[in-house]
Amino acid sequence: NEKLEIRNGKLSIAGQLAASIAHEVRNPLTTIKGFLKLSQEGSLDLDVYSIIDEEIARIETIASELLVLGKPLSTTLKEADVGKILRNICTLMQSQANMENVSIQLTEMEKNLFILCNEDQIKQVFINIIKNAIEAMEAGGKIRIKAFREFDEVIIEIVDDGKGIPDHIKNKLGEPFYSTKEKGTGLGMMVCYNIIEQHEGQIEFNSTEGQGTTFTIKLPLV
Ligand code: ADP
Ligand code: MG
Repeated sequence: NEKLEIRNGKLSIAGQLAASIAHEVRNPLTTIKGFLKLSQEGSLDLDVYSIIDEEIARIETIASELLVLGKPLSTTLKEADVGKILRNICTLMQSQANMENVSIQLTEMEKNLFILCNEDQIKQVFINIIKNAIEAMEAGGKIRIKAFREFDEVIIEIVDDGKGIPDHIKNKLGEPFYSTKEKGTGLGMMVCYNIIEQHEGQIEFNSTEGQGTTFTIKLPLV
């Protein structure tokens, strides 16, 4: 969109994000508006209400995925044990995983891995990555999680044996609204990158198509 382009042809990250959110929210709104107009004219069958319902649900999902980014980090930092967070998340995700024939295992967990974090945000990162792992294993499979100390950092690995990430889309992960899924929002990875960056950590992945994916998160220890 040319009008949105600023000076040297580049929008700020916030500007890019705002532009794509506006775009993504406007699509379902346009649909809803169109159908409502038809309904005023009386020319509407019942299916349309379920479409409207779905479109509203999509706006809700987008809003809730982005909500976690809203809080200023500095005011919410607390000391937390990575092991405790991960055990918590595994319990939380177990039922969703079971339904998809996926098992989640904590295969290696060092004690006393304390980080300074906004716990809700860090949990969201693990949830988003585990969700993607589950969704990558359509026929079921295993997710293995490890956390260990390396110098003054904690390394967290989340490994799946799912379908993997094709090379040509690897650099697209984390772009707002980039998704290969029919019902994906394409916000999960962007939120992860954003949160980990704010926590002065790093996030990387290694993936082979047809074999699986490993996400590695590094965070500074207290
Ligand atoms: P969404 O899950 O809504 O599609 P994300 O930002 O969470 O959006 O992920 C973006 C894309 O990255 C996914 O659509 C998928 O193609 C790819 N992806 C992320 N994690 C994995 C994984 N573990 N295995 C395979 N593909 C993945
Ligand atoms: Mg996702």
